[in-house]
Amino acid sequence: VILFSVVVCLVMSLLIRNWLTATTSIRSNMALALKRNEFEPYFQPVMNVASDRCTGMEILTRWRHPTDGYVSPDVFIPLAEESGLIIPLTQQLMRRVAAVIASSPVHWPEMLHIAINISAVHLSNRQIVDDCQTFLQTVGDKNIRLVLELTERQFVDVTDTTLEVLAALKQQGVAIAIDDFGTGYSGLSYLSKMNIDFLKIDQSFVAMIEEETTTRIIVDVVIDLAGKLDMKLIAEGVENARQKAYLLDKHVLFQQGYFFARPMPMTQFSLYWREEHAR
Ligand code: C2E
Ligand code: CA
Ligand code: CA
Ligand code: CA
Repeated sequence: VILFSVVVCLVMSLLIRNWLTATTSIRSNMALALKRNEFEPYFQPVMNVASDRCTGMEILTRWRHPTDGYVSPDVFIPLAEESGLIIPLTQQLMRRVAAVIASSPVHWPEMLHIAINISAVHLSNRQIVDDCQTFLQTVGDKNIRLVLELTERQFVDVTDTTLEVLAALKQQGVAIAIDDFGTGYSGLSYLSKMNIDFLKIDQSFVAMIEEETTTRIIVDVVIDLAGKLDMKLIAEGVENARQKAYLLDKHVLFQQGYFFARPMPMTQFSLYWREEHAR
């Protein structure tokens, strides 16, 4: 038993050490990656399923590491949040997206929605107001609706600064979406304080649609709740026609997921858009 415990302890400490070196190296690499422009925006279409048209897109960050290859945002975003790098990372991303949109020859529809994921630390910082202004100035006459997605997983306390920031953003015409709706622990009271435009129903609920009735009740409750809060709904993670139809039946018109299109780089998105426009 003693030998076994010693071995277990050794293995554990080795694992922890590896994990620590791995995360430390990711963290120091990230600052460098930012300088080298290794973070790339990917674009995923958001559909209005009633009109069968793409009405917007969500920007998802990809890190193309020169030697480690592709690093998932689920790994590097939490580290960027801890280290404070998330703000410069998001700023760089917004500048890049705005430049790409501004210079693209594509004819975008009126009020195309562009959604950017924003971490809680960034929203409680007045800097975000300038960042959005820069974005809107860069896209200029393109008639874009900028949407900031705030995840419910992080969103807990609504301070005076946050409320001021939100009011300033409203004035600029920036919309706010609550991401991963239904998964948070913060309760609903903050929603009424914040003047939200959209709720994104988390993909874990969409995945429940095809399960047995008892599980599906949860999906229905989340959709009903979101509907009663009188906000526009977007379903994420829609992977098949049955989920699409079920959600449409519940009047969830805005949908996003692999069933429609995967996140893609701009070159591919432009082609996608050209086909969209032609049909
Ligand atoms: P999220 O904001 O909830 O984004 C949705 C995630 O689901 C994305 O994963 C997307 O690629 C994936 N997805 C889209 N359609 C489907 C589908 O039909 N089925 C399934 N199974 N998945 C689908 P991704 O790109 O790996 O991003 C993971 C998370 O990382 C995002 O979740 C978001 O919270 C965070 N993230 C990504 N980019 C940024 C960023 O620029 N800033 C911040 N703060 N967070 C980001
Ligand atoms: Ca999101
Ligand atoms: Ca989400
Ligand atoms: Ca999610």
